[in-house]
Amino acid sequence: MKQQQILNQLIQFLVASPTPFHAVRFMTDLLDTHDYMELIEADRWHLKKGGRYYVTRGGSSLIAFRLGTDDNPVEGLSIVGAHTDSPALKIKTNPQLRFKNYLNLGVEVYGSPILNTWFDRDLSIAGRFAYTDANQQTKTALIDFKKPVAVIPNLPIHLAPTDSQNGKINRQTELPPILMQFDPDKKAKPESFQDVLSAEIKKQLPELTIKQVDDYDLCFYDTQQPAIVGYHDEFLCAGKLDNLVSSFSGLLALIGSRGTKSTMLVCNDHEEIGSNSYTGAAGPFLKSVLERVLKNREDYYRSMSQSLLVSVDNAHGVHPNYPQRFDTNNGSILNKGPVLKINANQRYATNAETSSMFRRICHEAKVPVQEFINRSDLNCGSTIGPITSTNLGIKTIDIGVPTFAMHSIRETCGCQDIEFLYRALLSLFNSPA
Ligand SMILES: [Zn+2]
Repeated sequence: MKQQQILNQLIQFLVASPTPFHAVRFMTDLLDTHDYMELIEADRWHLKKGGRYYVTRGGSSLIAFRLGTDDNPVEGLSIVGAHTDSPALKIKTNPQLRFKNYLNLGVEVYGSPILNTWFDRDLSIAGRFAYTDANQQTKTALIDFKKPVAVIPNLPIHLAPTDSQNGKINRQTELPPILMQFDPDKKAKPESFQDVLSAEIKKQLPELTIKQVDDYDLCFYDTQQPAIVGYHDEFLCAGKLDNLVSSFSGLLALIGSRGTKSTMLVCNDHEEIGSNSYTGAAGPFLKSVLERVLKNREDYYRSMSQSLLVSVDNAHGVHPNYPQRFDTNNGSILNKGPVLKINANQRYATNAETSSMFRRICHEAKVPVQEFINRSDLNCGSTIGPITSTNLGIKTIDIGVPTFAMHSIRETCGCQDIEFLYRALLSLFNSPA
């Protein structure tokens, strides 16, 4: 697949995925068109040699896999892991805040966004409703307002207290986005958040009414479209590159792979808040699927000992304006290939052995490899790699594309790196057992 083709598809995915729920829906739609069969966790599974399957949990986590064509049930699996969530502002259950005739919405901060990047942005709302259907069952429906409906204006520089200028933003009082200005005399509708939801439901989900809705998971997101930036078109700027780039590269590689061994993609929700949830990497989702694929206990343990998890999550590219914030001996440059993420304290699961395995995979794909180790006097982030590795006892490596401004509302990565990552993961999935 050519770089431009991969980028076009990735941009489509980014635009269609304002929340993890939307990301999973996009991925399952694509899997459907490639003859992957949906499995339901509550059903009895009848898996076949060479079969292609996927299963979702909570609407926001996904596992897709292709079973090996050999008769050997204990061969190791090649697994790619990523996450579907990104930092966000989540709308509270009773969000309405009124000052004069402004209506603002109270939010909770999800994960660790760079908060000042959320100011002066054209924000929209997306997420899901939970409702009770005619059979008294709880169902969910996705919604995406698409158009910009809210803004968090900055305070003018002339009025800003020193605290704000230093980026110390009060999450309770300074973040609520302004949704609208209403005029009680004109009785213009909608004039409450409930009215807004009701109108959007009417437009987008005509089979549903606001009365049926019991609750929601709704977030704000930036409506600015992804853009190719740089004089040589070398950068991709967009929201949620961490970690939709990895989820989508893994998906394209799985779909494009033609190897004989079993391959799997796992995309978990809730990485940004530590992975502790029933859909997160610290939960039992992946383990339960692996146990259903490898029913025999002995086979399961033998297979795990021969498997490799490539945990893919964005890395930090050395920022040319702040080189002093990096260990430049072990820093990565955009468009120079995927990064091995290394940390002595196992914040990343990479070790010399798994690093060697990944270098070989990249060498076969003619993909260059770089390294990232944090400055020894700075704290290191983490990802699903060490968590999954701990849960399953599986050899793991942490890698990712180098990125600028991780957790900004708009991040930057290298266009060439997207192709490199795809080719590396394809090489992993196509490699013999
Ligand atoms: Zn991430």
